[in-house]
Amino acid sequence: MLPPGLSPTRLSHACARAGRLLLDSVLPPLCLGCNEIVETPGALCATCWQGFAFVAPPFCARCAAPFAADRGRGMLCGGCLARLPNYRRARAALIYDARSRRLLLPFKHGDRTDIARACGRWMARAGAELLAEADLVAPVPLHWRRLFTRRYNQAQLLARVVVREAAGGRPRLAPDLLRRRRWTGSQSGLRAQERRGNVRQAFDIHPRWRAEVAGKTVLLIDDVLTTGATAEACARVLQRGGAENVDVLTLARVVRPAL
Ligand SMILES: [Zn+2]
Ligand SMILES: [Zn+2]
Repeated sequence: MLPPGLSPTRLSHACARAGRLLLDSVLPPLCLGCNEIVETPGALCATCWQGFAFVAPPFCARCAAPFAADRGRGMLCGGCLARLPNYRRARAALIYDARSRRLLLPFKHGDRTDIARACGRWMARAGAELLAEADLVAPVPLHWRRLFTRRYNQAQLLARVVVREAAGGRPRLAPDLLRRRRWTGSQSGLRAQERRGNVRQAFDIHPRWRAEVAGKTVLLIDDVLTTGATAEACARVLQRGGAENVDVLTLARVVRPAL
């Protein structure tokens, strides 16, 4: 007989959690990149640390695409000059490459939600300037069908850590600020323009937040910035809802050869 309020599913979740905590306390912490033993949980070993490509200046003032040489403050990349994104600024912690993919895939499709803790910290550092100005921090939502198969939204896990790690004025976490109202399928394999068409009108603001968005600076959180089509679709909805500024912070970003 279970105590009131404790269903078998809740009990099994609690047991799994307790088991994980126990394992965490007896097993040595492992490197997030290669499973080597490290000193602290959620850390990288020295080799992986050096192997990860962290986004660092000099970069485009708008989208943080890295520059090979310093071009001076406020300079924009070829991509932004050709077509300005509708969000104000985008920042990312890592360059999307073979190594960061190895970190992202188990996080996205496996159950390595622990990775969010370390990655969220890197993101908070990479986006410190954006976080300092943000009123609301909102994850890019998943469609309920995808949420059902994956069981968690990786962007929401990251958003939670990012808010917790924000130094100074703490922005408010708005986990359901945006809703994905249309099933858009996978974006992979689509070109930039096709991606923009695919996500057009895919999002809306949850009625609960409609009155809150006006005049606010919103920081959108996602795992990877590829063409920016998803971020732009979200930014457009927020701007129509009255948001004053929309910034974007992702764990990784795809970097194309310079134009
Ligand atoms: Zn390692
Ligand atoms: Zn740029």
